[in-house]
Amino acid sequence: MDPILDGLNSAQREAVTSSASILQVLAPPGSGKTKTLTARVAYLLSHHGYQPQDVICCTFTIKASREMRERLAKLIGERLESRLILGTFHSICRRYLVKYGYLIGLRKGFGIADSDDTRAILRRIIKRLKSSMEIRTAQGRISKHKAHGLSPDALAERVKAEEMELVHIYRAYNTALAEANLLDYDDLLLRCADLLREHPECVSNVQTVLVDEFQDTNIIQYDLMNLLASKNRRITIVGDPDQSIYGFRSAEIQNLRRMQKRYVNTSVILLESNYRSSGSILNSAQDVIEQDTTRPAKRLEATHTFGTLPVLRKLPNPSAEALWMVLEIKRSVAMTGGLLKMSDFAILLRSASLSTRIETAFGRAGIPYKMVGGRKFFDRTEVKTLLNYLRVVSHTEHSDALLGIINVPPRRIGDETIKQLTIGAEQAQVTLWTFIKDVIQGRRSTEKKLQKAAEQGLCSLMKLIEASKQKLQDCQDASAPRVLLEYITESLSFQEYLLKTYPLDEDGRWANVKELMGQANEVAAAGEEASREEDLPEIEGVKQQQAHSGEEALSRFLANVALATEAQTQDEGEQTSEVTISTIHAAKGLEWPVVFIPAVYNGSIPHSRAEVVDEERRLLYVAMTRAQALLYLSLPIRQPWLVEGEDGSTTLTPFLPPKVTKTRFRPKGPPFHEKVVYSIADILRRPRPSPTDMCKDIASLPSLSDDKWTSEGEEKHDENSQWNDHQGPNGLVQEPYPKR
Ligand code: ATP
Ligand code: MG
Repeated sequence: MDPILDGLNSAQREAVTSSASILQVLAPPGSGKTKTLTARVAYLLSHHGYQPQDVICCTFTIKASREMRERLAKLIGERLESRLILGTFHSICRRYLVKYGYLIGLRKGFGIADSDDTRAILRRIIKRLKSSMEIRTAQGRISKHKAHGLSPDALAERVKAEEMELVHIYRAYNTALAEANLLDYDDLLLRCADLLREHPECVSNVQTVLVDEFQDTNIIQYDLMNLLASKNRRITIVGDPDQSIYGFRSAEIQNLRRMQKRYVNTSVILLESNYRSSGSILNSAQDVIEQDTTRPAKRLEATHTFGTLPVLRKLPNPSAEALWMVLEIKRSVAMTGGLLKMSDFAILLRSASLSTRIETAFGRAGIPYKMVGGRKFFDRTEVKTLLNYLRVVSHTEHSDALLGIINVPPRRIGDETIKQLTIGAEQAQVTLWTFIKDVIQGRRSTEKKLQKAAEQGLCSLMKLIEASKQKLQDCQDASAPRVLLEYITESLSFQEYLLKTYPLDEDGRWANVKELMGQANEVAAAGEEASREEDLPEIEGVKQQQAHSGEEALSRFLANVALATEAQTQDEGEQTSEVTISTIHAAKGLEWPVVFIPAVYNGSIPHSRAEVVDEERRLLYVAMTRAQALLYLSLPIRQPWLVEGEDGSTTLTPFLPPKVTKTRFRPKGPPFHEKVVYSIADILRRPRPSPTDMCKDIASLPSLSDDKWTSEGEEKHDENSQWNDHQGPNGLVQEPYPKR
């Protein structure tokens, strides 16, 4: 048997080996779409003679592409795997633009504007134009127009006179980006589409394109897919309309149909068995999604046993809810005798802002955790400062980065000086950097003369940046980011600065700086290999732009930071055993043995500001279907800072109507009897723990009695509870009504 096909069911095999040139694999969560897509890549390489550098594979998150690389390395070997063009749409587009951007007039060494940069630029423009538009609104609307390929000029032709405000902001925003030689996330896609439209020869080597999570592609990504595959139109996509959750970012479910129309020879393969979740979890999730009556009826089959019913729990307030999760995690680890580790748990949130209480509770209880989908690490002040230094060194046109470091550490450059400089630069129509340089060298002057001290401060900043740029020129390899970080922190006496500024917290902050250096070190260590991963194959007759290798390493390092935050997944490095806290959006395509979904109240999910209720329901469905063996939903019955309910009381999300909650959930945690633990082991395909290992720490665990919460006003769960407990006689949960 071909090892690539080993362990696949017949529908999956059919998809892997299909000779159809246009193939859609449509299937519900956990049915092995990603597994199938990965196997198809391996199969095409080994059976169709494709070269890895001629195969493009697009994933939705950086984490997903890393997982796919790992799986592929096992199937086809690392040597071949490393040559594949595999990554998110954004990272693939960046690669093409770095090599061929010159063909469409893109300047060398462009940077990527992350959403902080975008907001800073818009803030300035909105102020200058004396507009009353909110920054976020402008940001969202511009991004939407870009995603639909609408330029400011095209937009101007469509909108009414009173809506011209946005057009002006949009135009000024594009100009500001161009001046700073920056591309925002949408530009990466748009400009790459421009490139491929005008110069299809850049992808004349591409044999086939594969796309995961296709239901969440937007119009531009759809166009890109077609452009990348323009040579010989071989495309495989996998997706699930029920999991479309990026409509708010202009994803188009219709792309599935659009594709079938465009390519009349599209073959569709459906997968119908679920390999991820227990039967009970699958049933509860399907009851949720089936409330959407517009979707075609289909029911997934579980390949696992029924398992234990998911839990739906009400708690008095968010702190109690967080504490309950802590206790439930500790209890499950102790009672399953080594079967579950901390890294088996995930907390999935509708909004990242819900994490604060949970992080506090975890911190207090000593539960290790990592945040995904937040911008925790790269957002820390000291990390951001150093990154801004690197960005200025990488390209000095980046005025916002320059403003971020102009007086950090303090160089006696006050707000008035900064104002004078920015106004001066604007009037002279040069970048802030050029203006400062000219002022120092006496070629220009500010309206009001600068103070001596401020001038000296500017001088020392300028010297440092110039010297760093020289260092970068001298550095001919991937160690550039590390070398520069070392040079800059030393020149600035950054550690002493942290000590002086944050006397109570210097340790933690310096540790963050070390972590950043560690990441730069990894880049240096990966060296050659990483840059090879960035390489695109040489194409006859099309010149690739050659970059200075130190500059390229720095720009790659900064792009990875920017794209990591965009794709909402951070580089977690080597994993220790930590609970994952993630937004639901960032959890797409992933799975965990145990999943908690807190705050399932109306207003949180569906979110009070959500426009499309169906999308919110799909979001809950995506969250529930991440769970393999245990699923917990919870809500605080009071949410003190909630504006809506006058007394701050919350009600259960309408996506869990009584009919569903009564039969599909239990109000308390799972019993963890021997049989329950064994069924978890079966679902996870892990060895069963010995009975002596199980429950051994039970005495040390805090009591979970309901009295714990009643003092704070929660109704007791008892026979009057609105949810029934369906625990069977032997601890295993019985199917509450006949299987369909
Ligand atoms: P999602 O829609 O959530 O992205 P998916 O359809 O991509 O899900 P995968 O992540 O590919 O599903 O697979 C889900 C789980 O099922 C994985 O752990 C995978 O290894 C397992 N799996 C898939 N197919 C099989 C199979 N034929 N036999 C055993 N396990 C399988
Ligand atoms: Mg998947």
